[in-house]
Amino acid sequence: MKVEIESTSGFCFGVENAVTIAGQALASGEKVYCLGEIVHNDNEVERLRSLGLITIDYDSFTKLHDCKVLIRAHGEPPATYDTARRNNITLIDATCPIVHTLQERIRRAWIQAVKEGSQIVIYGKKGHAEVIGLLGQIDGDAILVSNVSDLEKLDYNRSIYLFSQTTMSKSEFEKLARTIRDNIETEKNRGSNVTLKVFNTICGQVSRREPRIREFARKHDVIVFVSGKGSSNGKMLFEVCSSENSNSHFISSPSEIEKGWFAGAATAGICGATSTPKWLIRQVADAIEVL
Ligand code: SF4
Repeated sequence: MKVEIESTSGFCFGVENAVTIAGQALASGEKVYCLGEIVHNDNEVERLRSLGLITIDYDSFTKLHDCKVLIRAHGEPPATYDTARRNNITLIDATCPIVHTLQERIRRAWIQAVKEGSQIVIYGKKGHAEVIGLLGQIDGDAILVSNVSDLEKLDYNRSIYLFSQTTMSKSEFEKLARTIRDNIETEKNRGSNVTLKVFNTICGQVSRREPRIREFARKHDVIVFVSGKGSSNGKMLFEVCSSENSNSHFISSPSEIEKGWFAGAATAGICGATSTPKWLIRQVADAIEVL
């Protein structure tokens, strides 16, 4: 059986950057805390833990003083920076520059929206760290939507600014924008004068992977998708694989591979999320090659 790794699978630029920054900080020999898991991947979290990175939650963070804390690629709300200032915590800020730019864009749009009486709508996953960081820029004054049925929460008599969390599906985002536009048009027929401004803020590192993975899933007999279970990007890309190839399997480590998946298969494709380390994808491919 031929085994192929999808060439773009593995850490995106933002996660790679955060992991590198963590490695450099740990190399100095000082104690380094990370606010939340650095990446939605237990294997990589464990690797960095073995090098000394201590993952903490928000509750522990507020109790820390005089130490170093790493901010991961997802970014943080302003309240985190306030706590750090109060507690003399040195932040090692590994916020992805793309997320940082999005935070600033949402903040500027919100200032404008408040003046106009418009609404900020964010397509994202409730409770996701990046979404918490984005909402924090605008005092939580946005409507979070995860699917078309959530659009009922919008007021179609007020103008709308639509943004997206960086790791969401482009096709779903486009569907949401179309539905909002249709709903506005319906209101317009009744005399409303509202507008929709769409900001496609899905990261290119994610949106470019979607069509590639779709094509990759089509050309193999079996697909093994490697990702942490908590990765929203992983869930989204795995759904893309499953929609193209019913013989797709989601795993988080090589121990979950089942020999029966490959019965009669001539080719197996291995791919993963933006939070999946390349070394883990390679381990999975190696394990399949010796089945
Ligand atoms: S997916 Fe894009 S925005 Fe998110 S961390 Fe990676 S590079 Fe940055």
